[in-house]
Amino acid sequence: MEKLLAFDIGGTKIAYALIDKNGNFVTEVTKQATPDSSEKIYDLLKKTISEYEKDIIGTAIATAGAINKEGKKITSHVGNLPEGYNKLDFMSLSNKPVLLENDANSAGWAEFAIGSAKGCQNVITLTIGTGVGSGIIVEGKLLKGKSGAAGEMHFPIDSCKKRKCTCGIDDCFEIYASGTALNLYAKEYMSENATGYDIIEQKSTNPKARKAFDEWQGKLLQGLIMLGNIFDPEMIVLSGSLSKFIEYERLNKQANEQILTQPFVLKEAKFENNAGMIGVAMLYFDKNL
Ligand SMILES: [Zn+2]
Repeated sequence: MEKLLAFDIGGTKIAYALIDKNGNFVTEVTKQATPDSSEKIYDLLKKTISEYEKDIIGTAIATAGAINKEGKKITSHVGNLPEGYNKLDFMSLSNKPVLLENDANSAGWAEFAIGSAKGCQNVITLTIGTGVGSGIIVEGKLLKGKSGAAGEMHFPIDSCKKRKCTCGIDDCFEIYASGTALNLYAKEYMSENATGYDIIEQKSTNPKARKAFDEWQGKLLQGLIMLGNIFDPEMIVLSGSLSKFIEYERLNKQANEQILTQPFVLKEAKFENNAGMIGVAMLYFDKNL
C-alpha cells in the first residue's frame, strides 16, 4: 500500500513516522527534541526524508504557523520555533511532493476524515493544550482564509481580569480557556504553587478546585456557543492534552441551551498526540498530490 512520511514539528519536539492511506502507522513514531536553529531543523528533515525517500510517495508536515492555500510555505511568524524557521524552503526537502499544513488544522482533518467526526460535513476541532487552536471544516472543506490563518482562537471575551494573551489582546479567549489559563486559575483560587493538574485532581473533593474548574470550563463554553452560532456545525470535537478532562455531557447541554442554531454534538477527539501527523497525511492522500 502507498505510504508517506509524516512529520509533526512543534517548539519542543519533532515527531515522524510512515503512515498508509488508511491513516495507520506503518512504523513506530520517532520523537526528538526540536533543534535550536532553523538550519539544523532543515538538515534533520532532509536527512530523515532521504532515508525513507525510495519507499514513500511523498512527505506531509504538520507544523505550527499559518500555511498558504497551496500547502507549500509558512505565511506567519512562528513564535515558538527558531528565527528563520518560517522562511525555510520546505519544497526543496525532497524530489517527491511535500505538503505542509498547520498542526491544529491537521488535527481537525484527522477527526473529520477518520476520527470522531467521520461522516460529518461541518466540524470544528478545538485543540486545547498550552494554547487553543482550531481546525474548521465547512461543507467538507478545510477553511483556510486568505492567508491560511483562519481558525485562530484569539478574540476578546467578557472579563475584567485584564489578563494579557500571547497575541497581545487583554482578556482574550485563549488566556481563559487554555492549559495556561488553567494554571492561572490554580494560582488564583488555590495557591501560588498550584497548577492546572491540581485543579483536575481535586475538583471533586476541594471546593476551591471545583470553582476554578467551573470558571475555566465556563469560558470554554463561551467559545463553544460562539462557534455553534457562527458555523452551525454538526459536531465540535475537543482535542489536545486537556480534552480528556472536560465534562462533555454537561458542557454539551449548557451550550445547546444557549445557541440559536440546531443542537450540535460535543465529542472528545479520537486521536491524541499523533493527530497532526495522521491529519496531514490524510490531507495529502485526499488531495491526490
Ligand atoms: Zn490571544
